[in-house]
Amino acid sequence: MNIILLGPPGAGKGTQAQRLVDAHAMRQLSTGDMLRAAVRAGTPTGLEAKAVMERGELVSDAIVSSLIGEELDSMGADTGAIFDGYPRTAEQARSLDSILDARGRTLDHVIELEVNEDALVDRICGRYTCASCGKGYHDKFELPQVPGVCDKCGSTEFKRRPDDNEETVRTRMAEYRAKTAPILPIYETRGIVSRVNGMEEIDHVSAAIEAILKG
Ligand code: ADP
Ligand code: ADP
Ligand code: ZN
Repeated sequence: MNIILLGPPGAGKGTQAQRLVDAHAMRQLSTGDMLRAAVRAGTPTGLEAKAVMERGELVSDAIVSSLIGEELDSMGADTGAIFDGYPRTAEQARSLDSILDARGRTLDHVIELEVNEDALVDRICGRYTCASCGKGYHDKFELPQVPGVCDKCGSTEFKRRPDDNEETVRTRMAEYRAKTAPILPIYETRGIVSRVNGMEEIDHVSAAIEAILKG
């Protein structure tokens, strides 16, 4: 099973991808996470991407598509892929087709998380993650069971992204509207798009996604 989670920044793609990974033999392929790792490691890709990401603009298609290809090559053939934050442009959508084709994979579902834009700034500005295992949290909407302790790994260290501020979010939303939303029709013609109401509670969104995967 290979699926794309599509939606604007803060829609819940990462949150839902983590849940799918916990429930199925699937891997989350987040180009955002891969790029942040490259920035931390100071690789040439990281050096090129850092300033672009801080502005909330899109990193070049060639860079993200090559990251995706490498990640797929490191996976077993029977491990499913959850594309989170990729593709984000028509060019990336075309690259994904050939990347999957070359590896004998097919795209099963494109799941669009529909959200009210007014909610996104609150979601992004309250977002934080465990510094140790990467589990996602939110100041209001998803608190750890024991305050200050990660549910998943017990760590007490958390972090916030430098681009999770109101100004950058506006740019990221504009990028989504201009370059990412227009790729949906490509998948519509293949009959593989499903829509989920991303404004519901996290558990409800997960249940709706599971129902789509079961067909
Ligand atoms: P994305 O990967 O699409 O940018 P995230 O999954 O990181 O979005 O979610 C953004 C923030 O909103 C996180 O802090 C997350 O805990 C929270 N969140 C995700 N889904 C929901 C939801 N359905 N309701 C409320 N908050 C949510
Ligand atoms: P969010 O889901 O909150 O928008 P991501 O973690 O997916 O954030 O992406 C963070 C940043 O990384 C983006 O604003 C962009 O600069 C860069 N990025 C991530 N994925 C891509 C992609 N597929 N194409 C271009 N740039 C990307
Ligand atoms: Zn943790």
